[in-house]
Amino acid sequence: MRLILLGPPGVGKGTQGARLSQALGVPSVSTGALLRELIASGAETPLVQEARQILSGAFVSDSFANALAFSAIAGQPGFILDGYPRSLGQAEALERFLESQGVTLDAVLLLRLCEEALGERVAGRRLCLGCGATYHVRIAPPRREGLCDRCGSRLGLRPEDDQPEKRRLRQQLYETQTAPLIAFYQGRGLLQEIDAEGLPEAVFRKVCESLRGLI
Ligand SMILES: [Zn+2]
Repeated sequence: MRLILLGPPGVGKGTQGARLSQALGVPSVSTGALLRELIASGAETPLVQEARQILSGAFVSDSFANALAFSAIAGQPGFILDGYPRSLGQAEALERFLESQGVTLDAVLLLRLCEEALGERVAGRRLCLGCGATYHVRIAPPRREGLCDRCGSRLGLRPEDDQPEKRRLRQQLYETQTAPLIAFYQGRGLLQEIDAEGLPEAVFRKVCESLRGLI
């Protein structure tokens, strides 16, 4: 199964990607997580600087994002992409890459949520500063407040969420760059829209429903 998860920041792509990954037995590839890992590696290389810029929404280089995604999915029997592609250029490059591998996408799932609910989801997101696991204070809280279930480290804000201006910038970037992908994948007959309102379990049921016939 080869899937793309589309949707605005905070809609729950990471949560649904992780569930799908478990259910389908294919890796969930989050470019956000790959970038955070790169930054956490510590070295202040040009690559790390670019990763930080991409996360903050200041500058997105297609070639960098492409290289990151392709190296993660090359040779995999399937994948769930979350946070990539983010522009039409990236979508076209992905199409060419998959063609060169002799494979095609199965579906593109577009998660939709009203603006008010989106704001609340983003504000409640937390990231483990130790292992990178993600939580939400209301819909996916850790067992002990402020501490990671997996490794016990402290939870903090995601680097890309810690300032309201950064959040707005990412939202704008989504609207101008990612929204054209909706038309692109609609044209390919791959797009499936999912109402992302509700708890993760309920949304996951809708996701599975939309994939019936493909799984
Ligand atoms: Zn952790």
